[in-house]
Amino acid sequence: GMVQSYAPDADIQLLMNAYFYAQQAHDGQFRKSGADYITHPLAVAGILAEMKMDVETIATGLLHDSLEDGPFTRYSILEEQFGADIALLVDGVTKIGKLQFKSKMEEQAENFRKMVLAMSKDVRVVLVKLGDRLHNMRNMGPMPPHKRKKKSQETQDIFVPIANRLGLSKLKSELEDLCFRYIEPEIYEDLEARLELRAPDHEDFIEKFGRHIQEELASKGIQCKVYGRVKYLRSVYNKMLAQKVSFEQVHDLLAFRVLVEDLGQCYAALGVTHSLYPHHPNRLKDYIAQPKSNGYQSLHTVILPERRQVEMQIRTY
Ligand code: MN
Repeated sequence: GMVQSYAPDADIQLLMNAYFYAQQAHDGQFRKSGADYITHPLAVAGILAEMKMDVETIATGLLHDSLEDGPFTRYSILEEQFGADIALLVDGVTKIGKLQFKSKMEEQAENFRKMVLAMSKDVRVVLVKLGDRLHNMRNMGPMPPHKRKKKSQETQDIFVPIANRLGLSKLKSELEDLCFRYIEPEIYEDLEARLELRAPDHEDFIEKFGRHIQEELASKGIQCKVYGRVKYLRSVYNKMLAQKVSFEQVHDLLAFRVLVEDLGQCYAALGVTHSLYPHHPNRLKDYIAQPKSNGYQSLHTVILPERRQVEMQIRTY
């Protein structure tokens, strides 16, 4: 259903076949959490579908561990069942999994060389690997702390920069936040507890303010979708370090994303927002006129509704 919502002509039968195949390949295997193994490739496929990837990539998500872990899977069988494209993708993901990444900073270049080599064949290999890593990072609970830390350091050094370069900002932010949680557990838990104290109020505000902005813009003829969230602790912590302030002094814990139809409406929405609320003149960033180095384009502004500070990111769908 999720895939059909953005690709109505997608080959759903292919996904069904990949699912049944993976289910057989992992039959009787379990995750560390005790869950059936199939829940992992299924979740990776879900992450890729959320990123609106094509069916081959999602099928690869379903099959990505079947070459390595499956008791009966051979490359030739995959090729016969799913074609050369998917077989090559699955093989590529399996090979990245076997790469030995080096942890020291000065060996970063070597790590990048390996990743770029894998990407140059088909970038989708790396996208599946990123989905795989995200799901594994989300489920590190049962692992001993030193292993979680090691995995997180590798993720921070290798996968976060690659996700950033590919412009996968949502995936990158979540990965980075998970790394922060396991590399600096004391700091993370402290910030989490402080946030908890302020959070119930925020949930309420996010809901109300998001609806309010959407209605105000609609009344000016701007149809948009508004998504609000509490910022990731990693980015809050970055701000504390950069500005040498305490958690309590970080006011803009909330970020709203406003999605509009076209470029003109981005600036129109910014104009309406600024006419409704005071804003920080030196926090206004036009990344549409001057994109970030990874190609990211958006308008950023910080407004001050109801004695709060709120970051707004305005861009097209
Ligand atoms: Mn996996």
